[in-house]
Amino acid sequence: MAAPGKKDYYEILGVPKSATADEIKKAYRKLARKYHPDANPGNNDAEKKFKEINEAHDILSDAQKRSQYDQFGFVGDMAGGAPGGFGGRDPFGGMGGDIFGDIFDSFFGGGKSRGRSNPNAPRRGSDLEMSMRITLETAYKGASHEVEAPREENCPNCSGSGAKPGTSAETCPACGGSGQVERATRTPFGSMIQVVPCLQCKNTGKIIKTPCGECGGEGRVRRRRKLDVKIPPGVDTGTRLRIGGEGEAGRNGGPSGDLFIVLEVEPDSRFQRDGTDLHARVDIAIPQAALGATVSIPTFDGIEKLDIPDGTQPGSVLRIKNRGMPKLGGSGNGDLHIHVRVNVPKNLSDRAKELLTELASEMKVEVAEDKGLFGRIKNKFAGQ
Ligand SMILES: [Zn+2]
Ligand SMILES: [Zn+2]
Repeated sequence: MAAPGKKDYYEILGVPKSATADEIKKAYRKLARKYHPDANPGNNDAEKKFKEINEAHDILSDAQKRSQYDQFGFVGDMAGGAPGGFGGRDPFGGMGGDIFGDIFDSFFGGGKSRGRSNPNAPRRGSDLEMSMRITLETAYKGASHEVEAPREENCPNCSGSGAKPGTSAETCPACGGSGQVERATRTPFGSMIQVVPCLQCKNTGKIIKTPCGECGGEGRVRRRRKLDVKIPPGVDTGTRLRIGGEGEAGRNGGPSGDLFIVLEVEPDSRFQRDGTDLHARVDIAIPQAALGATVSIPTFDGIEKLDIPDGTQPGSVLRIKNRGMPKLGGSGNGDLHIHVRVNVPKNLSDRAKELLTELASEMKVEVAEDKGLFGRIKNKFAGQ
């Protein structure tokens, strides 16, 4: 999946591509403990490995980043920065906090991610985000693109319960199904009661005796879905398209999250975009600039005829109205601005030189003496 030279994050963590979030977390913890710089003082290889492990975990533990990585083989700013904000962070920066936060999590049964709310309450699934590169022409005309979006769904085998079909999850005896327990802590001021996630059931409120073979008791599986994404005309880099209900599935009957497609419009060789205006260049010859002409301008709607008035100066900008980008969700288009470049000819034919020399004398301007064929003939006559 990963492009050549790119890191395979699944391989780094030693997990299959189908690994669940929990499997990734477990693999990461095991490796992070083994390669932690504190456990390997002065070992550069271990430090490098530790950095890699953290980078892999950073991507694979984040549903959005993982889905982007699965789809494209890289994530946002790793490849030089996809606009639209896949804010990755320095794998080493803030690492200390991360790992301790994570180990802290493991003591308290994943309290950070699951929270302390009632584990059986319906919860909406997370939103997912994917990036998509499109051409300027697609941004101009709009299109319908098929994408494959991975997402977490309730396991169809056990209907999301995590228990093998025919069996059912039991209510956790330690917390009575609430997913949290009270814990007394002695302090100098007396005993303090704290509500903490239940370790027995990992805050789920349920104990699964016979896990489902499909999802390993997680109740969730990763699926890739083919989706038709409608790109409306006028989109720009950073435009977020929302596809309702295509994010992660909800839990306990909660609704699914949404999928967001963040667009990146590729640069175009012919047109430069400035909001809804487009800019292009046209090269004309000196006689066309002086005498005027009609030239052909390619646009996304076909060839457009443009009148160049006589006496057009180099650098002039001519405007073709309503041939710029469509206004997103609105009516009309911006304008197309044509920047005129006047080409000074090189490698002139003898006839062209003769005509230009004549033009120079008509305009009473001095030109350098011709050292070509005519000059030689002239010099020959002059010399005799
Ligand atoms: Zn299952
Ligand atoms: Zn419990």
